[in-house]
Amino acid sequence: MWACRVLHAGLSAAPRGRRAQSALTQLRGVLEEELEAIRGAGTWKSERVITSRQGPRIHVDGVSGGILNFCANNYLGLSSHPEVIQAGLQALEEFGAGLSSTRFICGTQSIHKDLEAKLARFHQREDAILYPSCFDANAGLFEALLTPQDAVLSDELNHASIIDGIRLCKAQKYRYHHLDMADLEAKLQEAQRHRLRLVATDGAFSMDGDIAPLQDICRLASRYGALVFVDECHATGFLGPTGRGTDELLGVMDQVTIINSTLGKALGGASGGYTTGPGPLVSLLRQRARPYLFSNSLPPAVVGCASKALDLLMESNAIVQSMAAKTQRHLCHRVQLSSGPQGQGPDPGADLRSAQRGRHRPLCGGLRGGGAAAWGTALTRVVTGTAMVPLPPP
Ligand code: PLP
Repeated sequence: MWACRVLHAGLSAAPRGRRAQSALTQLRGVLEEELEAIRGAGTWKSERVITSRQGPRIHVDGVSGGILNFCANNYLGLSSHPEVIQAGLQALEEFGAGLSSTRFICGTQSIHKDLEAKLARFHQREDAILYPSCFDANAGLFEALLTPQDAVLSDELNHASIIDGIRLCKAQKYRYHHLDMADLEAKLQEAQRHRLRLVATDGAFSMDGDIAPLQDICRLASRYGALVFVDECHATGFLGPTGRGTDELLGVMDQVTIINSTLGKALGGASGGYTTGPGPLVSLLRQRARPYLFSNSLPPAVVGCASKALDLLMESNAIVQSMAAKTQRHLCHRVQLSSGPQGQGPDPGADLRSAQRGRHRPLCGGLRGGGAAAWGTALTRVVTGTAMVPLPPP
């Protein structure tokens, strides 16, 4: 019987094996074509290997000596802050490497609850929920909250994760022109027939460093009965007098309903994201948000690092103020590279931009020659013909 099965398997494996082989050959052809198209479009992204901690000065594989790093979103320099690292080590020691579980099965530790409470306190909101990343927080929010009866109105330059999150939900979708309040108002008028209306925007748009006009957005939202959602990844920890973010900077903390943000930039830079807002919304997300329900808990070391980063910000305003001063200095000395569009906003992540694809390469080469890590990148949501060179402040 067993020999019979082996013989049968042997006979039928031959043509199946050949078919699988030809499918694989076909796949290789398709992939090569795609990859060539990316190279041809000049949008190929290559990765440099850093051989040291993240920081203002790093070591990079293949480059001798330390170089200045202009590329990370390590806005406050907390990624390698000694107290942050120590807190991560302590959490690792006390709570282990990881939970081998999602939150609702058996992956919730006291440190997860403590960090959620701390985040809610930091943003002055009712509650908060952690995710493995802010990409996940954006993927989870819209689908869990909005139904076909609802409408979502999104800035056309919102981050890819907001766009993808909105794609996942069944609400009616409206896309308004970047920062264009007249267009938003027109779309809000159209959306009046829906049950809920949610305006979704980045707080700070990292490509140009421009800031969403949250006062105007909140005014319109109030006039047309809409909720306001803000992605604060490029604002949390450093924008506003105490680093609470864009809503603090523009004095609308009490009018923005929902905030999503990341632990992977200013708040220690490890990984993780969260939603903070009304208690019942957070309760709903714990029941319905798929990236929360079906992905592992944040590792204790990551939680420990982020928690310490928040402590540092809540204990003193010195780090935030030093960042604001450096940003001001950077704005005064911003390099004018070309006649092309330049990042003009007050966000410290504003990029240095060259107008023609490919022109950033010699520029970056020049900066690197001077001992600075500046790697050009071409991003899909940036207008064709432009290339970005991220340049955080000195
Ligand atoms: N939202 C914005 C505006 C971002 O810039 C990013 C990261 O680049 C994300 C969301 C995703 O954050 P995370 O790295 O935590 O997934």
